[in-house]
Amino acid sequence: MEYLFSHRNKLKDILTDKFVFLFLDYDGTLTPIAQTPDKAVISKEKKDLLGRLSNNPNCKVAIISGRSLSDIKALVGIKSIIYAGNHGLEIEGPKIKFESRLSPRFKSIIRDIYKDAVGRFSKIKGVLIENKGLTLSVHYRLVDKQDIQEFLKILAEITDPYIVRNKIKINSGKKVYEIRPPVMWDKGKIVLWLLSRQQFLLENNNILPIYIGDDTTDEDAFKALKKKGLTIFVGEKASPGARYYLKNTEEVTELLRLIFDLKHK
Ligand SMILES: [Mg+2]
Repeated sequence: MEYLFSHRNKLKDILTDKFVFLFLDYDGTLTPIAQTPDKAVISKEKKDLLGRLSNNPNCKVAIISGRSLSDIKALVGIKSIIYAGNHGLEIEGPKIKFESRLSPRFKSIIRDIYKDAVGRFSKIKGVLIENKGLTLSVHYRLVDKQDIQEFLKILAEITDPYIVRNKIKINSGKKVYEIRPPVMWDKGKIVLWLLSRQQFLLENNNILPIYIGDDTTDEDAFKALKKKGLTIFVGEKASPGARYYLKNTEEVTELLRLIFDLKHK
């Protein structure tokens, strides 16, 4: 990985003549990781920049999050942005609306696991269970170190019976486990789909996709865009898929400002 801002001039060169399609993760990318999900609030400056960028005729902005669609829409609140919630299982934006066709049976599985989890995790302090309709997040950032083993044991007891029957998939992120439908749909696929749709709408291929993310689920998108655009990891830890990195979410703001200044002329 190379530090993106060591290549400022090159960056300006490649950005100048291209239509920029900006794909952003939310938690850890647009906001620092917070103790609990409800505390991750986007700054006014970032919101302002995203609003302006998404209304620029040479740019498009999509936010792709593991949060539910309604949650991510409410947090950002800008109409001209495309939102993909639940890792892309639901998408909404200007002239676009999509929900992955999951059987009602799957939603009832999520409901069952949720109920089970709420009951069984009640004895461990700090577990936060989020029912996002199509997926479920189990956060353990606030769980005491000494309880982690027990936490993992219970999680396995709850989810293993579903995993072995291929009823769910489970992914881990930053102090969170995501319980998801066993479908081949991830941030990489969603990004490629949105990109080809945009190429079709603009009738040209002169689009530069930029993906910025900080966590394991973003790796699918990094991989998908490896040869097509700029892949940027947020954080000091190495990412196997991203070509560049930025040190923190403030540098993401700086990059948004840089793109805005170039495109605003
Ligand atoms: Mg993230």
